[in-house]
Amino acid sequence: MTSIHVLPEARVPDPAGPSEAPVASGHRTHEVTNQSPPLVGHDVFGADAALVETLARVVGDPGNPGNARDPGDTAAGMHEADRARLGELAELGRLAGSQQAQTWADQANRFTPQLHTHDRFGHRVDEIELHPAWHELMGVAVRHGLHAAPWREEGRHPHLLRAAGFYVWSQAEQGHGCPISMTYAVVPALRLQPELADRWEPLLAARSYSPGSQPPHTKPGVLAGMGMTEKQGGSDVRANTTTATPDGSDGFRLTGHKWFTSAPMNDLFLVLAQAPGGLTCFLLPRVLPDGTLNSWRIQRLKDKLGNRSNPSGEVEMDQAWAQRVGPEGRGVATIIEMVAATRLDTVLGSAALVRRALTEASWHAAHRRAFGTVLADTPLMRSVLADLAVEAEAALALGLRLASAADAAARGDEQARALRRIALPLSKYWVTKRAPTLVAEAMECLGGNGYVEESVLPRLLREAPVNSIWEGSGSVNALDLLRALGKEPAALDAWLAEVGLARGADRHLDNAVQAVLALLADMGDPSTAQASARRLAEQMALVTQAALLVQHAPHCVADAFCAGRLGPGATLTLGTLPRGLDLAGIVARATPTLG
Ligand SMILES: Cc1cc2nc3c(=O)[nH]c(=O)nc-3n(C[C@H](O)[C@H](O)[C@H](O)COP(=O)(O)OP(=O)(O)OC[C@H]3O[C@@H](n4cnc5c(N)ncnc54)[C@H](O)[C@@H]3O)c2cc1C
Repeated sequence: MTSIHVLPEARVPDPAGPSEAPVASGHRTHEVTNQSPPLVGHDVFGADAALVETLARVVGDPGNPGNARDPGDTAAGMHEADRARLGELAELGRLAGSQQAQTWADQANRFTPQLHTHDRFGHRVDEIELHPAWHELMGVAVRHGLHAAPWREEGRHPHLLRAAGFYVWSQAEQGHGCPISMTYAVVPALRLQPELADRWEPLLAARSYSPGSQPPHTKPGVLAGMGMTEKQGGSDVRANTTTATPDGSDGFRLTGHKWFTSAPMNDLFLVLAQAPGGLTCFLLPRVLPDGTLNSWRIQRLKDKLGNRSNPSGEVEMDQAWAQRVGPEGRGVATIIEMVAATRLDTVLGSAALVRRALTEASWHAAHRRAFGTVLADTPLMRSVLADLAVEAEAALALGLRLASAADAAARGDEQARALRRIALPLSKYWVTKRAPTLVAEAMECLGGNGYVEESVLPRLLREAPVNSIWEGSGSVNALDLLRALGKEPAALDAWLAEVGLARGADRHLDNAVQAVLALLADMGDPSTAQASARRLAEQMALVTQAALLVQHAPHCVADAFCAGRLGPGATLTLGTLPRGLDLAGIVARATPTLG
């Protein structure tokens, strides 16, 4: 049966459209109440107590510069370059929480990149059209030195401060973090070929965003990408079939394909190919010095679950010109230098996603009432939010510790280098794997609103899984942990020294360290213990996080993490923290305020 609804005359829409946007008073059915106000204008850096406290402890407090603990700092307490970066961070934090940044993020993900393979006359152009909002996001990131700047700029803590900036700005939008991260990461690999590093590092580190198809050497700043994955193998890059033939001068000609190449419109790429001496790393410019296009043909863009602002392409090369980076036959060892740095960013990016999701969830719960009570004050919602908050803080603690280890390693600290070797794969494994679960739980805190695009949570949830896939998926990182244990005894020593700093502070943590040692002993030879690799990575990550929180976070956070994740009956199900903890204190620390 059909029924016909006739609008009363006064409600018939004007075909010319409404003269002004309809307002609630024009509707008689209801008033809008009990919706949370928009979270706009929140200071993403200043409101993040865990971040601010960590930087004050490690770098120093700009308001009280004498308190920096790093023995290398100047008498004034803080290196001028670090002070300047802290100032930029404060600015970035305010921008990340602004309406402007939210609009850019929304537009860059709704108006997705378009590939133009040919011009109207049939010439190959391989151009990607990107929304202006993408360029705005990129411009901010480059101006704030979130790309390769820390490799060239002064300061005691350039990598830590850059990590803080990457984490803060990633809370505005994640997709553009991919080319920013690859540009950051290309430098250590390039340094294995010093004449190429000398040539390109200044442009990679320049704080000048310069998109477009010009010869890279004519640009004020360039961006980099990487081409490893092929159709027949991504984790197993030794299966690459792209060939590299010496061209008789200082170059090679590459022929083959790359199944995933993100930001294929960037200027320079590290590409793996089979040279006569074996799998080798190459530097390939998209535009050749004479201004013609290299043979870098973008065949298609991937239609992805998330990460939609960032183009990821399939690329073919037919005699593309490239230069060798690192020794011939040592391609994996060379490009792994790049992958190590992008892995750090997957940890920071996941921490940022979780933090943004928590911010939205705690804000909503602080303003929404159900059954006569503010949601955040109900015992169970408080438990969920507190659980999210302690994991968010633990994820950040791990990411920042890795970044400060990168600073120390760059200064020649061997123990920091060994710690990074072991802590990176376990952190990449665990933090990126937890992110989708944590973001989904935060989404549920917003109820139905959370499932709706305008809430931003759907974008965060779509984004979350990619960090545990690219740059080495979960199992590949768990196996890399075993490799570190098997090949570098100093790495386990460094880890034990790191978690040993918290010895005696929490009985659950002490027991968990013993449990890791027992698991290691039980596994026997780490190289043959693959089936236990994930369990080991998980336990070691939780212990590392707990050790950091016990030393540096407020008691309420550390106690909840140790009891909830390591204590008897510990579970990873959110909202199940044991009784007797200061959950209200944790939630208050995590809830944003305006002004
Ligand atoms: C959005 C996006 C962007 C990307 N951008 C780039 C890019 O710019 N450049 C680039 O080179 N690549 C890029 N990649 C590719 C990405 O790095 C690979 O997809 C990833 O490394 C996994 O490789 P694969 O897809 O071939 O899967 P496979 O290697 O086939 O792995 C499939 C599964 O098997 C598991 N596995 C593999 N080996 C083992 C083992 N020994 N034991 C147990 N399990 C194992 C993996 O963990 C995974 O779960 C991108 C991917 C995505 C999704």
